[in-house]
Amino acid sequence: MNLPLNPKRTVAELKELRALTGDENGAQRVAFTPTWITARNWLKKKLSELPVEIHTDAAGNLWATLRGESSKELLIGGHMDSVPNGGWLDGCLNVLAGMEILRRINAQYGGKPPITIRLADWADEEGARFGKSLFGSSACSGRLDMNEARGLVDKQGITLPDALKNVGIDFERVKDSGKELKNAAAYLELHIEQGPVLLDLDLPLGAVLGTFGVERHAITFHGQAAHSGSTPMNRRKDAFLTAAKMSSEIYKIAERSGNGVCTIGSCTTKPGIVTSVVEECRITLDQRHLDGPALAKMFREAKAASEKFATEGNVQVSWERLWQIDPRPFNDELIALCDESIRETCGKSHRLPSGPLHDAAEVAVAGVPTVMMFVQSLHGISHNKIEDTKEDHLEMCVTAFDKLAERAIRWIQTRK
Ligand SMILES: [Zn+2]
Repeated sequence: MNLPLNPKRTVAELKELRALTGDENGAQRVAFTPTWITARNWLKKKLSELPVEIHTDAAGNLWATLRGESSKELLIGGHMDSVPNGGWLDGCLNVLAGMEILRRINAQYGGKPPITIRLADWADEEGARFGKSLFGSSACSGRLDMNEARGLVDKQGITLPDALKNVGIDFERVKDSGKELKNAAAYLELHIEQGPVLLDLDLPLGAVLGTFGVERHAITFHGQAAHSGSTPMNRRKDAFLTAAKMSSEIYKIAERSGNGVCTIGSCTTKPGIVTSVVEECRITLDQRHLDGPALAKMFREAKAASEKFATEGNVQVSWERLWQIDPRPFNDELIALCDESIRETCGKSHRLPSGPLHDAAEVAVAGVPTVMMFVQSLHGISHNKIEDTKEDHLEMCVTAFDKLAERAIRWIQTRK
């Protein structure tokens, strides 16, 4: 049967891709490697059955364009690349669902939809090899830090510019990719949630409000090394004791913030021996929130707490910013259309922020109205071979995402 939209075909193609580019440890489509190129060639072959123009842009992003009556464009995006030993859905679900939607639109409009529809396969979303995620989309949005990226080196000592040269990309020209967004009127991205929120609510699908802003710092407490036998408890300047108080405090800060999250992800001590009071303790703090002022408040509260605990413990504290990014809220009207499409498909929707960054955050910051749809992740886990989603949920997400695409076409047509 040749249905216009066939979500079962998407599930079958996901399995086909898994067999082609995965092994017993999971997906192996690391960007710019031969397996990634295999995945892309497989995709291009499928896409070539449609009347689309296919090209790779200056940053290595792959575009399939179905020209419409108007030059205004609806973009649908995802990424074929994976982390090493990754899951079978992260990124490629978005691309394959987008391809299915192109098929439906092509069939419904006889090859000429009212506006132009484009599918993007972003290059190196994961940043697995060079430690820098969102490469292709940040080159496209213009926000890629060229000086930083120029110096990135993989574990084999190969630089990012050299790795790109091997796949035919000139590093110094990657930002030319920005012209791809010239006529973009909206951007849609489907993704597995990669967390447990929809699972805990027992809901298949959710509308994403935006991506979290991040404040990431190293906090170092400076005390005094002293003999663990001869130093009475009341005479110690114990940097670890003070740092440890932050551990429970960040849970209170996160709770007060509404839907923010805080993580102390690492802790190192000096001298780090069994017979010494800790002289220096360095912890890292990662704080995330969808609301800018709320994120700033979480940061201020953590700073104030560290200073209070330091004074109490008779130690010094210093802060160093490691990384920061503003929240990227998505478009309110598109969020509403996403909600409607989900409700129509499975009865109930839920709005949630995204903790991880996605290519959609880069497209949004480039000024293109953007929204994402999430589908439930079993175990709430990704970047792991156990990453999974129920097959009926996978089919549902293709259906709901297609409804969103159709609504977005009409939305773009009615806008000036
Ligand atoms: Zn992803």
